[in-house]
Amino acid sequence: MANPRFPTPGGTTLRAKGWRQEALLRLLENVLSVGEDPDNLIVYASLGRAARNWAAHDRIVETLKTMNEDQTLLIQSGKPVGLLKTHPQAPLVIMANCNIVGQWAKAEVFYDLQEKGLICWGGLTAGAWQYIGSQGVIQGTYEIFMRIAEKRFDGTLAGRFVLTAGLGGMGGSQPLAGRMAGAAILCVDVDPERAEKRKAIGYLDVVAPDLDAALDMVLAAKAEGRALSVGLVANAADVYPEIVRRGIVPDVVTDQTAAHDLVYGYVPNTRTLAEARAMRKTDPASLMAESRAAIAVHVSAMLDFQKAGAEVFDNGNLIRTHARDGGVANAFDIPIFTEAYLRPLFSRAIGPFRWMALSGDAEDIRKIDDKVLELFPDDRIVGNWIRLARDNVPFEGLPARIAWLGHGARTELALAVNAMVRDGTLMGPVAFSRDHLDAGAMAHPNIMTEKMKDGSDAIADWPLIDAMTLCSSMADLVVVHSGGGGYAGFMTSAGVTLVADGTDAADRRLDLSLTNDTSIGVIRYADAGYAEAADEAERKAVGWLGL
Ligand code: NAD
Repeated sequence: MANPRFPTPGGTTLRAKGWRQEALLRLLENVLSVGEDPDNLIVYASLGRAARNWAAHDRIVETLKTMNEDQTLLIQSGKPVGLLKTHPQAPLVIMANCNIVGQWAKAEVFYDLQEKGLICWGGLTAGAWQYIGSQGVIQGTYEIFMRIAEKRFDGTLAGRFVLTAGLGGMGGSQPLAGRMAGAAILCVDVDPERAEKRKAIGYLDVVAPDLDAALDMVLAAKAEGRALSVGLVANAADVYPEIVRRGIVPDVVTDQTAAHDLVYGYVPNTRTLAEARAMRKTDPASLMAESRAAIAVHVSAMLDFQKAGAEVFDNGNLIRTHARDGGVANAFDIPIFTEAYLRPLFSRAIGPFRWMALSGDAEDIRKIDDKVLELFPDDRIVGNWIRLARDNVPFEGLPARIAWLGHGARTELALAVNAMVRDGTLMGPVAFSRDHLDAGAMAHPNIMTEKMKDGSDAIADWPLIDAMTLCSSMADLVVVHSGGGGYAGFMTSAGVTLVADGTDAADRRLDLSLTNDTSIGVIRYADAGYAEAADEAERKAVGWLGL
């Protein structure tokens, strides 16, 4: 569903003084073209913004168009604050978004600073212009489903019922990921527009008129072993307990509502969507209390499903944290997805790596798909994913692909793509980035770093080391984010963007930045005591000192 006010960029004509600047400009345009509420600069995760306000946005655009390669643009929480003389090997853009000093890093302080126009939250990939639509998280969701399938259901979710909620920017990936894993998946969202948006891009097969119809469709598909994604416009805090009451036990249960933010994200079942929106300004304190109470009901139902034998997990939205604060003492009986399923991958710095065809030509992504299959013929996860994705994942905005690649593989692919840009195989340059939820890049004690082996969950040194290393490795854009809204005080992460423009200089940037970025990931996990990481460090000589 293209938004004509925010067209997707493309073509080979430069508006900036070089492809590096043009690339970052296109990525900024792209996050708005695929974002959830671009009129308000909101990209995803309720309040994740591309820029602080429109004046800041316009100045960023103007600066990217006019700056030279030997300058660096400084951005503080979505506002451009300086343009410094550096050198052509320095990052073009350096950002710090939403970093609030420890004692003050609370949701209420964040809202106040936001109201005063002093700060904005960049989400993980919104403020850093790396968001590529719901497809950005889709392989992560798919891999979680497949790990569950391997652990519990003989390797497939065919004939299984997955219950989840949230069809927003990230949660919207769930219906497609579930269907790709073979499941009959029911996705609940209070907002009819979100459900329609996911239906329009083909992620949802159908939006059911009510719960009875939704359950009929899902249970029939489960019985036939048929993959199906069904949307339902309702409040999850009503629907989950009702399904418990009916004695139906889904096989897998999770949630990806914007539960992290009790004011701007979650909608309590005591309010309509319109009422909750109005209360955000008029009575945020009551809304917060009502959201917390509704989340307690919502999570209690998830615990009931768990007791009845369902595989239940937290999908990274702080829902257990708020439930515990709302009185559900055993909310953390539900595991976090990172610890439950993905840590062996992160130990080898395997995580969500992505690339965007800046020309807008989908053929460029298809050629890179072929290159991935050629370079990594023995990587079962990646090969399976690329084949599935090319058949099932529609492009949103700039054609893009995500694949969970690790140390060495990311660098190898990026250098191969840079060569394809150089020799004209591709129509235009390609940008690379990765999710902030990456091995060395994130401290988030209730999501990424929960229950680390050595207890180092809350230490935020790693993303800071990562960002500084990326600057010294000549990355094109480097950012440090901390949480805003409900995530205030919960996380710190580092992000990076690189531009493969076919030059020799790009070879050097890609090589150093991607290799060092994943080296830090391996070192972080090896230092925490993970055997897979120590093995990876030794086999690939990543430079871990092993103390
Ligand atoms: P979003 O704000 O774009 O969408 C949230 C959706 O939740 C909205 O469509 C909203 O209508 C719906 N919702 C809110 N309360 C509801 C309720 N009670 N019942 C049913 N629906 C309700 O957010 P998003 O970008 O989709 O992110 C969702 C959550 O996932 C956030 O907390 C985000 O931080 C988290 N997240 C996790 C990962 C991960 O790696 N697992 C990645 C990105 C985001």
